[in-house]
Amino acid sequence: MESQTTSTEQPVALVTGANQGVGNEIAKALVANGYIVYLGSRKLKNGEKAAAQIGENAKAIQLDVTDQQTINAAVERIEKEYGRLDLLVNNAGIAHAGEPGRTVEEVMASGRAVNVSLDEVRTVWETNVFGVIAVTQAALPLLRKSSAARIVNVSSGLGSLTWISDPACWARENFGIVYAASKTALNAVTLAFALELEKEGIKVNASSPGYTATALNNFQGTDSLEVGSREPIRVALETDGPTGSFTGPEGPLPW
Ligand code: NAP
Repeated sequence: MESQTTSTEQPVALVTGANQGVGNEIAKALVANGYIVYLGSRKLKNGEKAAAQIGENAKAIQLDVTDQQTINAAVERIEKEYGRLDLLVNNAGIAHAGEPGRTVEEVMASGRAVNVSLDEVRTVWETNVFGVIAVTQAALPLLRKSSAARIVNVSSGLGSLTWISDPACWARENFGIVYAASKTALNAVTLAFALELEKEGIKVNASSPGYTATALNNFQGTDSLEVGSREPIRVALETDGPTGSFTGPEGPLPW
């Protein structure tokens, strides 16, 4: 008799910021590979629209990573519906806190370490760094109920201090304390969780997409969504991989 996977045997994933961009691409790939995927969306309607386009194993869930109440409610719902979480993808991120629709060059110019407001730095770090810590901590009890739990943090090569401190690095122009340094901090957070959770068998990795055309960079990224998202998708699907790694489209990235 042909064996049938029941929904409770299917791996369960939560992807934050999955209503568009790289997160949505990751959610699609996970569903295509047999996962039940909660699409975190700070505006539920956007998540519902995105989930409907993916299919029945995609479930919209309201989740603003800067709002502890929505984080707790999302975790409670997943607990009620599946009782565990096998994969958490911390993907939600913002590049700046100013007017949307500005070019990358305009954003960089107004976000220099010497002139950017502390409020802007705080807002971006609230999502890209503290949001990841908050969601990860809240999801841990559910991850601990999985037999092989994994966490993938969507980072950026721009956060690599090894890259940026090299005078020949192309990315130096794009380093700043708003976005890039938030990814440096995220890398440190990734390693801290990886070290702590290794003894429990929970893997924690950071992965960077390519320079992908999304709202984050005013669609100036040079990779299509499909191409740019390949590496975080690979890491999200990798069940027998390492922990504490940082990779990008070209392979391992230096911290
Ligand atoms: P995107 O299309 O702008 O998607 C970002 C997603 O994060 C959106 O769904 C957005 O929701 C969500 N989000 C923002 N703030 C949130 C919050 N407080 N709570 C919950 N969700 C929130 O950009 P993307 O390029 O796909 O970015 C995804 C990740 O990839 C980010 O972590 C980014 O730093 C990283 N990354 C991107 C590139 C690139 O070239 N695109 C390169 C390296 C790393 P709304 O739709 O409501 O705004």
